[in-house]
Amino acid sequence: MSQYYPLSLENAIVYARSIPDFFTADANLSCEEIGDGNLNLVFKIEDPISAKSLIVKQALPYAKVVGESWPLSLDRARIEREALVIQHTLCPDLVPIVYGGNQELAITVMEDLSDHTIMRKGLIDGNTYPRFPEHIGRFIAHTLFYTSDLGMNQQRKKEQAARFVNPDLCKITEDLIFEDPYRDVPNNDFSEDIILEVKQLWEDTELHLEVALLREKFLTHGEALLHGDLHTGSIFVTAQSTKVIDPEFAFYGPMGFDLGAIIANLLLNFTAQPGWSDNTELLEERRQWLLTSIKNVWDQFENHFRRLWNDYGIDPISKTPGYQNLYIQKVLRDAVGFAGCKMIRRIVGLSHVADIETIQDDELRHQAKVTALQIGKALLKYGRSTSSIDEIIDLTKQIV
Ligand code: ADP
Ligand code: MG
Ligand code: MG
Ligand code: MG
Repeated sequence: MSQYYPLSLENAIVYARSIPDFFTADANLSCEEIGDGNLNLVFKIEDPISAKSLIVKQALPYAKVVGESWPLSLDRARIEREALVIQHTLCPDLVPIVYGGNQELAITVMEDLSDHTIMRKGLIDGNTYPRFPEHIGRFIAHTLFYTSDLGMNQQRKKEQAARFVNPDLCKITEDLIFEDPYRDVPNNDFSEDIILEVKQLWEDTELHLEVALLREKFLTHGEALLHGDLHTGSIFVTAQSTKVIDPEFAFYGPMGFDLGAIIANLLLNFTAQPGWSDNTELLEERRQWLLTSIKNVWDQFENHFRRLWNDYGIDPISKTPGYQNLYIQKVLRDAVGFAGCKMIRRIVGLSHVADIETIQDDELRHQAKVTALQIGKALLKYGRSTSSIDEIIDLTKQIV
């Protein structure tokens, strides 16, 4: 820790050269900082002759949020690196290769995915990704199953969970997702045009009860190693390929959390669609693709997860008839509830989504926010009664 300093472009090049067998000694490397966050530096280092390139990601010791900054553990770089390695081992085609790292400098060196697009941007640009549901459903099923007590020796799981205690980053989630949006606190960030809806949210104790129950799960249910921040800004896509990045929020938590993040972000894009096109036919087509994708993500997750459980479940008691169905039902209900929380926080709390914020027309942007709040609230209130993903699709269709 004492040796930490933020890398300059020159230092990043020096560091990249130290990766064995990557660049040639005489390569004339270029370097660019391409990060967009407030928490980390991301450098792309390239040899223009061989066209080989890699990424150096470095954690900063603080988070910049609305002008202020608060200290943030550098250990999250180790957590991100170790999570990437585990996830890459479990899903080699869906996670970047880690080439190296340095604990003191809070650095991870990884495969350059610049030939992919960040999914949030791709969706805003009107693209669809046919292979995404199978890819992300399989990513979630494999990473959760093999890090849980269902697919992993329980003693080893406890040792592994101890390596992923991530209090600083969990605290961000606990405050921004499960607390702030439901109270009048300065940390919130919403536009004046939705003040009535926000005040209703603050008074809705029925809703608060659901949030409290989900928060309890987030705080106490260490079911599996979560990605922890699986929004469409943490996913790189092409027509053929999907790559999941940025697991610095990884920790042992409830399985529904990662699925909820995917569902919420597809629904946030869904609510934004009228702001992106006045061609009703196109609009309907895109919206249908988003809803079908939510269903397909869930179905792919469930199919992969059940198959892994049946083929590789390690304990006889977990094969007891009926247990698997109840378990899957719990994951679905949690996912729906977490999706609701995640939609609401993106409208009311700190850190919004470009899908909605960059809509030019004031009225259409307003409508998208109101619809997202309605869907988010409905998911929270319905969550604990959900028995199939189709009900969630129907619920959404009833609201819009
Ligand atoms: P943060 O934790 O600060 O959000 P991310 O890991 O999400 O950092 O990276 C921020 C941005 O840097 C990404 O949106 C992407 O544009 C770029 N980036 C990150 N990792 C890679 C990579 N492996 N290949 C190419 N670009 C990357
Ligand atoms: Mg970012
Ligand atoms: Mg990110
Ligand atoms: Mg991040």
